[in-house]
Amino acid sequence: MPQNQRISDLEGQWTTLRKKLMAVGPIIRGSIVQYARLCGKPNCHCVTGKRHVSTFLSITVEGKTINIYLKKNTQKIAQQWSSNYKQLSDITEQISNINIQRLKALSSLKPPDDNN
Ligand SMILES: [Zn+2]
Repeated sequence: MPQNQRISDLEGQWTTLRKKLMAVGPIIRGSIVQYARLCGKPNCHCVTGKRHVSTFLSITVEGKTINIYLKKNTQKIAQQWSSNYKQLSDITEQISNINIQRLKALSSLKPPDDNN
């Protein structure tokens, strides 16, 4: 493939990825986790049977993990936003790879005459 065609193709891919990037919804850097626990009431079903399950958004900040409790009405939203973050990361990685290839393609072009 001629180098100019290659550069043009890569620019096309970059344009496509940039559109995808702009289309990503709200993001959260974190994971949804669930913990099963005992509530402490001696006669509760959790003592012998099904434990209470609580859902959290788990975020690592400066090496420390923070768990934010999620009420039922926010669990799906948090899951979606967390998933959007992963999608954003994937797109960012793809864009970086495309741009590395663009740099390589550009650097292999014959430079214009330099009068310096
Ligand atoms: Zn209980």
